[in-house]
Amino acid sequence: MEKFAEQLRELRHEFHRHPELGFQENWTKARIAARLEELEIETHVGAGVVGVLRAGKGNRAIGLRADFDALPITEENDFSYRSENEGVMHACGHDGHTTMLLGAAELLSKDPDFDGTVVFLFQPNEEHGLGAKAMIDEGVLQRFPIDEVYGAHNLPGEPVGRVSTRPGIICYSESLFEFEIRGRGGHASMPHVGRETLTPGAELVLALQTIVARKLPPSAGAVVSVTEFITDGQRNVLPGHTIIKGDTRAASPDDRRAIESYMRDIGAGIAASHGVEVKVGFRTEFIEAVNDAEAAGHVVAAARTIGLEADGNRKPMTFSEDFANFQAEVPGCFLLIGNGTEGANARPLHAANYDFNDDLLPIGAKLWAELVRQRLSLGGRTPG
Ligand SMILES: [Zn+2]
Ligand SMILES: [Zn+2]
Repeated sequence: MEKFAEQLRELRHEFHRHPELGFQENWTKARIAARLEELEIETHVGAGVVGVLRAGKGNRAIGLRADFDALPITEENDFSYRSENEGVMHACGHDGHTTMLLGAAELLSKDPDFDGTVVFLFQPNEEHGLGAKAMIDEGVLQRFPIDEVYGAHNLPGEPVGRVSTRPGIICYSESLFEFEIRGRGGHASMPHVGRETLTPGAELVLALQTIVARKLPPSAGAVVSVTEFITDGQRNVLPGHTIIKGDTRAASPDDRRAIESYMRDIGAGIAASHGVEVKVGFRTEFIEAVNDAEAAGHVVAAARTIGLEADGNRKPMTFSEDFANFQAEVPGCFLLIGNGTEGANARPLHAANYDFNDDLLPIGAKLWAELVRQRLSLGGRTPG
C-alpha cells in the first residue's frame, strides 16, 4: 500500500504542475487517457475522458466522476511541484479528485472482484459549470448507461478522510442576475427635468434584500448578493443608464424560481414608480445538487466498511457543483471528504496557498473501490 500511496502522490504532483483552465485541459486529458490505457481500461476521449471497466456478467453499472480543471489564480505555494503554468493553479483540489479516481481504477482493474460495469467519468470545466453538461450533451449517458452516479469534493478544515453527505439538497444552485435601468440623464442641478436611474437603482438594491428577509421562509437559507452597481453618471451629470448585477443561491428549484419571479416583480414596481424602463436578466449557471437518499446511505456504508468516520446528515453546502447535472439524469450522491486541519490543506478552496492533501489519495481511491464492490457485489444484485 505504501508504494500505491507514493505513486498516487507523484501522479497528483504531475497534475498539480500542469494546471489547465476549463475546456483547455488537453494535457490533462491526454495524461488521464494514458494512465487508463496503461491499466488496460477501455478509454474514450471526448469533452472529458471516460474509462469503462467490466467484470463478471452483471448488467448493472455505476458511474464515478472526478473533475480536472484548474483556476485562473497565481499560486503562492513554493513547494517543488508548484504550478508551472503561470497564473493558473489547481486551487480547488481537482488534481486530487482525478488522482483518487485513477487510483480507484487501478485497484479495481488489478482486482476486479465485482460484477458489472464501472464507468469512470473524468470531467472538464467544473468551475464554470459547463463540463458535466458538455459530457451529457455529447451523449455519455446514452453511450455508457449507468444506474447510479457518485462524485466527491475535498473539504479543507475537516479531518483527513472524514466523509460527510446527506439525503436531498447537498449543494445550492447559483444564478446570476442583471437589472438594466434606462431613463434620461441630465444636469445634476435639475433632476426634475429627466428620469435619472441611480436613485431607482439604490431603491432596487434595498428591495432585493427583502426577498430573503421577508418573502422566502426564514428556513429557506437562500442568498441574494448584489455585487455590481454601474452608472454612466459623472460628478455633475445624473445617470440615464444603470446596471445592477449579482449572484443568488437557492436550496431548491422552487426557491430559485420564486427568487426570479420576485426579482421581476420588484423590477416592474421600480419601473412603474419612477417612470424608468427596467429589464431583468436571470441565468442559472448551476442547478441544485440533490442526493438520492439510498445512494447517500451507500456512501456512508462503504466509508464505514473501510474504517472512515462518516456523517450521513451533514448541513448542505452553499457552494455549487455541476455534478448536479449528472444527478438530474441518474440517481446518485455527492459527498465531501476531509482534506485535513493543518497548513495548506486547511486553507479555503480557491485560496492561492491551498493544496490538496496527498494523504487523502489512497483513502479516496479505496473508498471508490469499496463503493463499487458493495454496489456491484458478486453473487447478485445488491439490495437497494
Ligand atoms: Zn472550485
Ligand atoms: Zn472544486
